[in-house]
Amino acid sequence: MRKKIVAGNWKMNTTLQEGVKLAEEVDNALKTVEPKCDVIVCVPFTHLASVNAVITNPQKLGLGAENCANHKSGAYTGEVSAPMVASTGAKYVILGHSERRQYYGETSETLREKVALALENGLTPIFCIGEVLEEREANKHFEVVKTQVSEGLFNLSADDFGKVILAYEPVWAIGTGKTATADQAEEIHAFIRSTIAEKYGNEVADNTSILYGGSCKPTNAAELFAKPDVDGGLIGGAALKCADFMGIVTAF
Ligand code: PEP
Repeated sequence: MRKKIVAGNWKMNTTLQEGVKLAEEVDNALKTVEPKCDVIVCVPFTHLASVNAVITNPQKLGLGAENCANHKSGAYTGEVSAPMVASTGAKYVILGHSERRQYYGETSETLREKVALALENGLTPIFCIGEVLEEREANKHFEVVKTQVSEGLFNLSADDFGKVILAYEPVWAIGTGKTATADQAEEIHAFIRSTIAEKYGNEVADNTSILYGGSCKPTNAAELFAKPDVDGGLIGGAALKCADFMGIVTAF
């Protein structure tokens, strides 16, 4: 059966010291609860090794990066490769976040390269898809996510596709305080799952975790996570406070 997952995306927030403190708080908080989901924090590159060093139980708290390069190594000043990320102890990497697609021009082509390198290096991609407001208003959201999933991932074998976590994040809901309703989330998650089933069959589709992201908070997480095709959340703003993040983790 597919996993339930709550993953934090810290984005470009926290200094190294603040980030290590936040990770310690989450690690500590997890000692007193038995979450019904996997818990992951995806942190800035600069924080990875130090955060890894304060995680006391990697079974309970996974670590990820927020991106990786589409090249293995070489003359790419400022880039951080998948082998570098893996060498810190991280096990996950967010790929194709809408902020990367929007501000850094990431395309399906570069994302395919990143996904391949992540998998080659034993990292689990958390692959983000989602439509912008105009696309939702024009009722194109189904078509948009289908294209993003198929262009970004359908080159993979069923075996490799099975290693990927998907995150549906409507761009209009990210950091805006506007959440998709639980019914809106369920409708599109079910559609994404049926798209996967058409390509890889029901078993692979049933085993794929599809997270919801976009202004998820302790107050709305339980309703979203109660939907059958919503397997957890990718959490931005609310991942920056331990109490809020734990409020979402314990919403399962
Ligand atoms: C995100 O960017 O992945 C996200 C879901 O952000 P927020 O929770 O702040 O909307």
